[in-house]
Amino acid sequence: MRIAIAGAGIGGLTAALALARAGREVTVFERATALTPVGAGLQLSPNALDVLDRLGVARDLEGRAVPAETVTLRRGSSGRAIARIPVGSQDGRGYLSLLRADLQDALLAGAQAEPRIELRFGHEILAARREPAWVLQFSQDHPAAHCDVLVAADGVHSSIGMLLGGAPARSEGVAAVRLRVRQPASPGIEAWLGARAHAVAYPVAAGRETNLVLIGPDAEVAEAPASFFDGWDKRLLGLIEAGDTLGVWPLLTRTPRWRAPGLAYLGDAAHAMLPYAAQGAAMAIEDGWVLASCLARSPDVERALHDYEAARATRVARVLSRVAFHRRVYHLPAPTSFARDLVLMATPAKRLNRQLAWLYDWRAPPIDFATD
Ligand SMILES: Cc1cc2nc3c(=O)[nH]c(=O)nc-3n(C[C@H](O)[C@H](O)[C@H](O)COP(=O)(O)OP(=O)(O)OC[C@H]3O[C@@H](n4cnc5c(N)ncnc54)[C@H](O)[C@@H]3O)c2cc1C
Repeated sequence: MRIAIAGAGIGGLTAALALARAGREVTVFERATALTPVGAGLQLSPNALDVLDRLGVARDLEGRAVPAETVTLRRGSSGRAIARIPVGSQDGRGYLSLLRADLQDALLAGAQAEPRIELRFGHEILAARREPAWVLQFSQDHPAAHCDVLVAADGVHSSIGMLLGGAPARSEGVAAVRLRVRQPASPGIEAWLGARAHAVAYPVAAGRETNLVLIGPDAEVAEAPASFFDGWDKRLLGLIEAGDTLGVWPLLTRTPRWRAPGLAYLGDAAHAMLPYAAQGAAMAIEDGWVLASCLARSPDVERALHDYEAARATRVARVLSRVAFHRRVYHLPAPTSFARDLVLMATPAKRLNRQLAWLYDWRAPPIDFATD
């Protein structure tokens, strides 16, 4: 079975590693000539770390990622803490914050060390057709490639999806401004909640720097983030003032899609979601592992793709409803936000943690690793 993956992002590299460990040969086509870091941060929850640990990638994050014990929710205007939610899993697996580039480096190093993975950078897929094997065509006069299974891990704008007649991702009318603050932060994730907007800060780069994300209405927050957050907690304003803006990300989503004959979608190409539960990359990582386990178990490709969808659709749907819940409650205006804060303040931390057990306690299904 020849397997090709479009995209060497977080989901594509995870899938490649898991497939290779299961004894499958895989080629990854990436349009970029090299993976270039933009300096943005990422939170990684225990469910994603379970996969990275099994792939041997988690140990490479030590010394770069910062363990977090809680997410602290704060009132946007005053900074007053309204909840401290423990984010570990019941079996004691932790939660990390890190530079996205550190995760990508660790995944790439793993893939480069794996003889069953062929990485082809500078290979943008421009055409894909099935006859009945897939024929992939690239830019820059690279010869066409052929495969039996194509994995579209090519991100939110998925060219494979577009080439096959899929709809573009939807705009949600909100944008994220990411800032890199060259100041140390104490461990843990902090989120300030306010009307129509929220902000999240956490340590990255071994705690030497702070990653700050501001999320709010598209045009307003993108144009003048400092003015939009005027009147919010002074500590947040200090971080905005001290930060270097990395860019503005219009937030896009798509209704989940999982497969077509001979093809699997994963990560943002399958189900781009708002980052309100910090689960987009985590779901891409889970998808990559589960797809590999299905392909490794069944020699029948369509059966494997069916099993993949069956395993992932319910889980991702539940994550999407949690994201929708966060969207409603994070951005509440006063006075409804006061009621939210009272409920949160009255809820024991243990209960808040248990409400997330279904998410963080997910564990990857077994894959028999090849021994040769
Ligand atoms: C502001 C913000 C904060 C976030 N915070 C978190 C968080 O804390 N935790 C979390 O889990 N998630 C978070 N996410 C979500 C997370 O970043 C994404 O869900 C994740 O990166 C998706 O990974 P992916 O592998 O699907 O796609 P990507 O990482 O986008 O990779 C796609 C790859 O495909 C390549 N490609 C595209 N087209 C082609 C083509 N035609 N041919 C070949 N290659 C191609 C691209 O160059 C790219 O390398 C956040 C997102 C945003 C916007």
